[in-house]
Amino acid sequence: MKRAVVNAVVLTMNDRMDCFEKGYVRMRGGEITEVASMEEWKPDGEEECTDAAGMWMLPGFVNTHTHTPMTLLRGYADDLPLHAWLTEHIFPAEARLITPEHVRLASRFAFAEMIRTGTTCFNDMYFFSRVIAEEAKRAGIRAVLNDSLIDFPAPGFGTVDEGLALAEELIRAWAGDPLIHPSVCAHSPYTCSKETLLKAKRLADRYGTLFQIHLSETRQETETVKKQTGFLPGEYLHRIGVLDGNLIAAHGVWLTPGEVRLFAGSGAAIGHCPKSNLKLASGVADTASWLRAGVTVGLGTDGTASNNSLDMVEEMRFAALLPKGVCHDPEAMPARDALRMATIEGARAVGLGDRIGSLEPGKRADLLLIRSEAVNMQPVYDRYSAIVYAMNSGNIVSSMAEGEWLMQDRELIRIDEKETLNDLMERFGAKAGVLR
Ligand SMILES: [Zn+2]
Repeated sequence: MKRAVVNAVVLTMNDRMDCFEKGYVRMRGGEITEVASMEEWKPDGEEECTDAAGMWMLPGFVNTHTHTPMTLLRGYADDLPLHAWLTEHIFPAEARLITPEHVRLASRFAFAEMIRTGTTCFNDMYFFSRVIAEEAKRAGIRAVLNDSLIDFPAPGFGTVDEGLALAEELIRAWAGDPLIHPSVCAHSPYTCSKETLLKAKRLADRYGTLFQIHLSETRQETETVKKQTGFLPGEYLHRIGVLDGNLIAAHGVWLTPGEVRLFAGSGAAIGHCPKSNLKLASGVADTASWLRAGVTVGLGTDGTASNNSLDMVEEMRFAALLPKGVCHDPEAMPARDALRMATIEGARAVGLGDRIGSLEPGKRADLLLIRSEAVNMQPVYDRYSAIVYAMNSGNIVSSMAEGEWLMQDRELIRIDEKETLNDLMERFGAKAGVLR
């Protein structure tokens, strides 16, 4: 399909942060072929042309850490410490509720929320990823997927070796797909043995996929890992040889300066989840120091059971505001750095930096249109500030991934939102009485 979006303010988010005051993006299939000023525009009679006058165009947001089907557990067990929340509430609820059928519905429901709030690519960590992949493909949203390996029976597999077989099956089934990017995941260093971590990493390396893990989320975790292994979590991953440029660690709240240097030196990335870290009282990550050290940092919402939303606009705002308050320094996290985390740096963090995250010829066409002529955004003196500090997700009117529209004028194109919401409420709403 030949498409072009014209007359928009184009914020490319490329390395020079180029901006076209009145520009266009042209695409062929899923690939961006031109990004330029309207002065260079030459119509091609055969393409679908969308007039975006008055809009700002941005690359779509990349959510670098989430558990999409946990939409079923939004608000299920709030205001609890992480360990009790996870072991006494979330794991038992998942054991009862997580079936392929529920994962399918919960994923579709999550995709509707993510598309409405500007996400065009998400990095997931969950179970029954085969089902999530099918639903993501149907919804047209870009997905990095895996079955989260863990040293006890989990939804979908009984042993680690069965989990690894599922992971390999997913990788083979979706090899070369433009939208679905299989990866390998080990849940955390406190739920996976060294043997599991190494087996998982070997599989990721064999197929050249991203490897992901939760790391240094709470103080208790760092103490547990230190007691079990003699090392801090980041040191431990480095010692056993899994910390490298294909790894993304979610959270990293308790990483020490020495561990941060290991991340910077190895090229390993961090998926920063400011709201989830606050809600579970894990702490406030020192992201300003991570960026100074040269670590690749993306943003993630985490699952809806610990956020309780999948809205990257909110995440970006928290990411920009928190370091200022904690460091007593208003320059600690400029708006444009927070926006880079939500776009190009997030893309790099999940191993897709050469495909998405900025609007440049040769990249895939994942983009958003923002209506800036809104009472909550005007007047505008600096567009990056307006996006990070003033915009809400309702200002995002249209989006596409891989050159296909996901939302136009706030209407979802590929998901029947009403039906999905009804299905979910019938089975999991207050009246259904499933959970309690
Ligand atoms: Zn998580």
